[in-house]
Amino acid sequence: MQRRPFLKTALGATLAAGLSRAEEPSPRKLGWALVGLGSLSTNQIAPAFAKCRFSKLSAVVTGTPAKGVKWREQYGLSEKQVYNYENFDSILNDPTIDVVYIVLPNSMHCDFVIRAAKAGKHVFCEKPMANSADECRRMIEACKTAKRQLGIGYRCQREPHHVEAIRFAREKVFGEVRHVEAAFGFKSGDPKQWRLRKALAGGGALMDVGVYALQACRYLIGEEPSEVSAIETKTDPVKFAEVDETINWVMKFPSGRTANCMTTYNLNGCNFFTATAERGRFGMEPAYSYDGLKGWTSDPKRPLDPPATDHFAVEMDAFSEAILNDKPFEPAGEEGLRDMLVIEAIYRSIANGKVEKVAAQ
Ligand code: NAD
Repeated sequence: MQRRPFLKTALGATLAAGLSRAEEPSPRKLGWALVGLGSLSTNQIAPAFAKCRFSKLSAVVTGTPAKGVKWREQYGLSEKQVYNYENFDSILNDPTIDVVYIVLPNSMHCDFVIRAAKAGKHVFCEKPMANSADECRRMIEACKTAKRQLGIGYRCQREPHHVEAIRFAREKVFGEVRHVEAAFGFKSGDPKQWRLRKALAGGGALMDVGVYALQACRYLIGEEPSEVSAIETKTDPVKFAEVDETINWVMKFPSGRTANCMTTYNLNGCNFFTATAERGRFGMEPAYSYDGLKGWTSDPKRPLDPPATDHFAVEMDAFSEAILNDKPFEPAGEEGLRDMLVIEAIYRSIANGKVEKVAAQ
């Protein structure tokens, strides 16, 4: 709350002085602590801080001391700025940390989000939000109790192609979107990775990348699915003994509109959505990668071709700005919960071979 006047004053002063962007006073940057220094943190998130206006790397949390040393050197962090999983809760006493970003295996999201909220920090959590709707509810509750924001790393919701596609849908630029097809999958490598262990990952392709296809259908149709029907297939039952390899599912929405989706851990090249509307079609392929996204429409006069952005810099800054301006951030925990309710209905449908209703929030 105390930061609000600062932003207003800084913005007001900038406008009054007629300063160009280059001459604007530097905005206050919120300090972010990254928890889990794996592939995503190393290759996407940490480099993105250099492109942020409102966010900076203030601490890291790792269980591997050697990584701490490497990150200290690379990002100029002091010894104090490197935490481990045991002393994590002492971030409570570190005023340089405003936001904690959870980038751990899925089964650890719930515990660390709750611990971060109890330490009085705002929390940004990677997708999938958790392993169950019950965990999502506990995370939402913990952040509410601590009066801290909980954001979910659904980076596509702020990616310009997706934002424009959502505008096409909302403004009925091609008429009402009646049907969406979406798929995301890839051929997974190392058979020993945590993503193939149910206890750590919660599920397989569906939890990991299928959630992007699910998200696309939900935000393009603009409704919550009421019923789902799903089948699961395995071409490699040994490698995918614990988690789903390939799932195809159909969703029915209350208005009667529909979506067909597919996700897999055993085939490259599935990375698209197609929206069929009353007077035309639009889509993306690839749709969910970090870069090189391509949009298309059935009308050459209405292209889907906005400039690219760094997905991680944009979402981190949006979260920081929401906190600095004391505004609610979207997508918040409730959005992760809505996806998890659909995911649970998909797994139920696979288990009992029936059409399943999506539970109410
Ligand atoms: P990763 O395996 O590369 O990194 C996981 C990190 O967690 C490692 O640093 C590892 O040491 C640490 N860890 C702590 N306890 C562990 C345990 N018991 N088992 C295994 N690792 C443990 O994974 P990642 O690709 O960085 O994914 C992390 C999270 O980010 C996942 O929730 C994933 O779904 C999400 N993710 C999101 C995107 C996106 O585009 N938004 C992309 C990739 C991953």
